[in-house]
Amino acid sequence: MLFRTHLAFGAFIAVLFLILLPNQTHYLFLIGIALGSVLPDLDTMGSWIGRRLKPFSRVISTIFGHRAILHSIAIPIIIYFVLQGNELGVGLLFGYLSHLFLDALTKQGVKPLWPLGMKIRGPITTGSMWETILLFLLVGLSILVLVLRPYIFPL
Ligand SMILES: [Zn+2]
Repeated sequence: MLFRTHLAFGAFIAVLFLILLPNQTHYLFLIGIALGSVLPDLDTMGSWIGRRLKPFSRVISTIFGHRAILHSIAIPIIIYFVLQGNELGVGLLFGYLSHLFLDALTKQGVKPLWPLGMKIRGPITTGSMWETILLFLLVGLSILVLVLRPYIFPL
């Protein structure tokens, strides 16, 4: 999936947290979701984050390749424990998992238990019309939830 779709899904998850836990959602958590939703693609130099952190991206993509170690569920769990489950760590965990979920919907798929070979794939081609439809759905749902919030949660 593309940067914008990952970010839109991260934003949708953030909106849900803002609605469901309005008093427990903080900036570090939201920053963590945004960062986590794009961080796995550090393993490709052509990605948004890979272009901004080229030296790191070059090393990771050369050693492991794209959709390998950085697309395994071990990484967000390690990050979560390293950050001792603080707000940033929880946000990174949800953002990162949202990235893996979306990539699992693509034909290229992901290996969540990397280096084990089990691959999860979906029907969507990255950058296709279906991804664009998904992007608009995510943006539309986020706006809809925000607009309907006073009617769903009147307090
Ligand atoms: Zn990815």
